[in-house]
Amino acid sequence: MSKKSTNTEIHVRHYATCEYCGREMDHGCNRHWYVINRKKYEAIKNGDDGSEGVCHDCNARPGEYHHPGCDMEVCPKCGGQLISCGCHISDKVIVETYKKLKL
Ligand SMILES: [Zn+2]
Ligand SMILES: [Zn+2]
Ligand SMILES: [Zn+2]
Repeated sequence: MSKKSTNTEIHVRHYATCEYCGREMDHGCNRHWYVINRKKYEAIKNGDDGSEGVCHDCNARPGEYHHPGCDMEVCPKCGGQLISCGCHISDKVIVETYKKLKL
């Protein structure tokens, strides 16, 4: 957000802001866990699910976490698509407090 602005409006891109990490979704999310049946499951990183490249939905780089709600995120419990697998019964998402991501 504190990038130098160049007054050019050619490359203005708007990213949605993640409500969990508080950052724009132009990079991956903070480390986070889902609570499923009272158990904590660490989120699966982009790439650890066998996919390649930058996530088309939330822009997580390989090795970064998807933002919660991303339709590419894999359920850490059953391995299905997290937003539709039905495991994610708790809305509780635990997000690690972040120490400034180096971009
Ligand atoms: Zn996020
Ligand atoms: Zn994603
Ligand atoms: Zn699941």
